[in-house]
Amino acid sequence: MSRVFVVGAGMGGLAVAARLAVKGHTVTVFEQGPTYGGKVGRFERDGFVFDTGPSLLTLPAVYRDLFLKTGDSLEASVDLQPVEPGFSYRWADGTNAVLPGVDSARAARTLGEALGGDAEHDWRDLMTRAARVWQLTREPVLEQPIESKRQLLKLASNISDVRAVAPMTTLRQLGKKTIEDPRLRMLLDRYATYTGSDPRRAPAALCTIPYVEQTFGAWHVGGGMSTLADALYERCLERKVDFEFNCEVRGITRAHRSVNGVVLFDSRRLDADIVVSDVDAGHLYGDLILDTRAAKQRKSLAKFTRSMAGFVIMLALKGQTPGLTSHNVLFPEYYYAEFNSVFAGEPAQDPAIYLSRPDDPSMHPDDDHEALFVLVNAPRHGLGKHEFDWRAPGVAEKYAGHILNLLADRGIDVRKRLLWREIRTPADLERDTHSIGGSIYGSASHGKGASFLRPANRSPVPGLFLVGGSAHPGGGLPLVGISAEIVANLIGRA
Ligand SMILES: Cc1cc2nc3c(=O)[nH]c(=O)nc-3n(C[C@H](O)[C@H](O)[C@H](O)COP(=O)(O)OP(=O)(O)OC[C@H]3O[C@@H](n4cnc5c(N)ncnc54)[C@H](O)[C@@H]3O)c2cc1C
Repeated sequence: MSRVFVVGAGMGGLAVAARLAVKGHTVTVFEQGPTYGGKVGRFERDGFVFDTGPSLLTLPAVYRDLFLKTGDSLEASVDLQPVEPGFSYRWADGTNAVLPGVDSARAARTLGEALGGDAEHDWRDLMTRAARVWQLTREPVLEQPIESKRQLLKLASNISDVRAVAPMTTLRQLGKKTIEDPRLRMLLDRYATYTGSDPRRAPAALCTIPYVEQTFGAWHVGGGMSTLADALYERCLERKVDFEFNCEVRGITRAHRSVNGVVLFDSRRLDADIVVSDVDAGHLYGDLILDTRAAKQRKSLAKFTRSMAGFVIMLALKGQTPGLTSHNVLFPEYYYAEFNSVFAGEPAQDPAIYLSRPDDPSMHPDDDHEALFVLVNAPRHGLGKHEFDWRAPGVAEKYAGHILNLLADRGIDVRKRLLWREIRTPADLERDTHSIGGSIYGSASHGKGASFLRPANRSPVPGLFLVGGSAHPGGGLPLVGISAEIVANLIGRA
């Protein structure tokens, strides 16, 4: 039986802890914050309940597998609800398309009806191609511990497969080649932001994200996404995983060539056979492990652009906003200005605005009130180049006011109904989760193969493994769940 330490109780840390406990290991999770969940956070006041992080679950099969393999089914543990309709998209010219939560053919039809021209045909063709890319990449790439470029190149032996994945093509180029309507291209571009990236630099393979969303559905978890974290934490306790909260890991120690434990904030040194890191890979390789092999990883990570962060406003409102569905996106007129600003370290003046208003009575006090979550992409926090100082006095309040004015310009004026608002900046996310600068997804998926060449799950230091959104295969709840499965399989049975 091995003694395993997991650093970080985010969804990746919880998922790997539960899986390893079932395999017979003795598992302890160290979390610097007061509770579990990491970016899956919850804010509650006066009967209003907000998810401060994810509000949408896709590919629930990943969590079905996790819950089944560690005990009971997902459905027995949380109230999983299909979201219907799925997303409402509004463009600057007033066009609105409300897409179904599941059914890619119906989504294409809806887009055709809203946008006219070849939109239906273009979207259907693109999703057919995305289905192929998904089949080609899911099992051999996303579900495997990809550790080198050579491993990827070996997979690229069939020329027609390579053409479909188009590793040298950006998402933007794919949109230009396959989609006539600029509004529909904007919709495709938006999926780059699911990895915190710029569509002009992100790979075409990200077209699989809308495919997955529309084919396997958009899901809500009753009570909010934090109840999924609650259920996973409970599952860990049932499997006898130990937790230490308010317990920051300051270092990962080595004996000879392998890791042999951790040093905690209070200078305690504890021994382990294996350490699994669920923290931002930049934090792991930059701060926690001193080793020449880790230094190489640090250097190679420094070459990648960090992903975008997010600026969140939680609004407690009197009354209901007409015309909103659970998930809403309001596009600006010129989308690329947003990426130019954010990656240059400036908040965007005219960003796409995402609004989440779960159709869930347990998340607002009564039918005459609503809890509205607002999210825009934002530059990461910091004082360096391409960073923005979100702690500067008055900055966050002023930007929140700007976003509410912008919402009003786009036809959703909530200012007179506002009871209170709560802001979360990238600096807050950095403080709460140690994600560098509040970047949500570690490195952005910029450059050739970037999506498939994230920090490997097996570190170059024996006994040290990486799970979570900044490692392979990437961020977002489904991929984070897959990373935990990969690591548990790499470690194997006790
Ligand atoms: C605003 C927002 C919206 C999002 N929307 C969606 C969505 O709709 N759908 C979706 O699928 N995904 C979404 N995501 C992404 C998703 O939340 C993340 O990919 C996922 O939760 C990351 O989990 P993780 O375990 O990798 O990392 P984290 O949640 O960051 O967990 C890491 C944990 O490690 C702890 N830690 C860090 N350093 C140390 C240390 N030295 N010692 C001890 N503990 C430490 C942290 O406190 C944290 O708890 C969103 C994220 C945000 C912020």
